[in-house]
Amino acid sequence: MRPALFSILLLALLGCSPQPPAQQAQPKQESKQRNLKYGIDVQPGPMDSILLKDYAPESSLRVKETAVAKAMYSAIDVHTHSYMSNIKTAADVDAWVKVMDDVGIEKSVVFTGAIGAEFDRQADLFLSRYPNRFQVWCSMDSNNPENAAAELERCYRKGARGVGELSDKGWGLGGSEKKALPRDKRLHIDDPRLDAFWRKVAELKIPANIHIADHPSCWRPLGPNQERTPDFQHFNMLGKDVPSYEELLASRDRLLAKHRQTTFIFCHLSNQGNDLATLSKVLDANPNLYLDVSARDYELGRQPRAGRAFIEKYKDRLMFGTDMGAEAHMYRGWWRLLESADEFIPGRQWWRQYGLELPAASLKALYRDTALRVLSSQGL
Ligand SMILES: [Zn+2]
Repeated sequence: MRPALFSILLLALLGCSPQPPAQQAQPKQESKQRNLKYGIDVQPGPMDSILLKDYAPESSLRVKETAVAKAMYSAIDVHTHSYMSNIKTAADVDAWVKVMDDVGIEKSVVFTGAIGAEFDRQADLFLSRYPNRFQVWCSMDSNNPENAAAELERCYRKGARGVGELSDKGWGLGGSEKKALPRDKRLHIDDPRLDAFWRKVAELKIPANIHIADHPSCWRPLGPNQERTPDFQHFNMLGKDVPSYEELLASRDRLLAKHRQTTFIFCHLSNQGNDLATLSKVLDANPNLYLDVSARDYELGRQPRAGRAFIEKYKDRLMFGTDMGAEAHMYRGWWRLLESADEFIPGRQWWRQYGLELPAASLKALYRDTALRVLSSQGL
């Protein structure tokens, strides 16, 4: 049988008639117009007018919700701010201590953000009545780097047991977009003018807490592919007159290499919690580097297995911190994340979080043992 005749017979048997070539091309054209996404045909509808910033899906998932009222071990919170927790009066401090008692925080490290008279006032506010519940840390005289070491020593005598949080998101220490200095005039953490200051930190046997760069998504475009929610858009740095994310992390590496005797705590997982493999290498290369996990609940919670393995391996280099106010439910959110095996926990970003179910030894190190070793024993 000739092939053409065979085809016609076969089509007749199947109940079809042969299509003329022009009609055969039609389905191809149709599929071009179809909006196939996630394996389905996307159709227009009311969701098309929902703004990204308003999108807040309610989950139908019914899974276990573990309430952890108190930390498994008395915890030391190494990252709080008096201004953020709105602590101004003795009554405010009393209320905070009450919350700390309720949730299992033994001690809070308070970043006063101050030097001079304002530091002295805050040191008195916290330490006069609760010397065992707080450590107060001072800031740095970034306007006069040559005077910074002397002012640090003065603050130390008034009770400062650490320096920080010092931030360089690209504008330099003490800098900001509003009062931006020319690029070559900014004081970055590895500036030689600060060598004496870092040596003084080591001499006083106190640590320094540094915020370098910011979440890497801040250097990615604000648009349909931006990783973090619109609520975080004001942190974006792209197109601004600042060094790149990579350049800022490089200043961290130079500082760590140059001042081996100084103990540094880079906060928020050094803004590299999105890449724990690379962060592990930085820890391996720098024995004077420690990290706090503050404000990076979402980094750990979105990768619970890798996050747990990282904490287990580096538990002697990691410290618990919050940086998120002073409310009981905030602390309890951390306990749930770190201690439970809960799934699909609502988070502060698009992505949900998953409990890390940390083993007891890792929890104890993260909550207190590493801090007890690293923080100044003066006042612990
Ligand atoms: Zn902070």
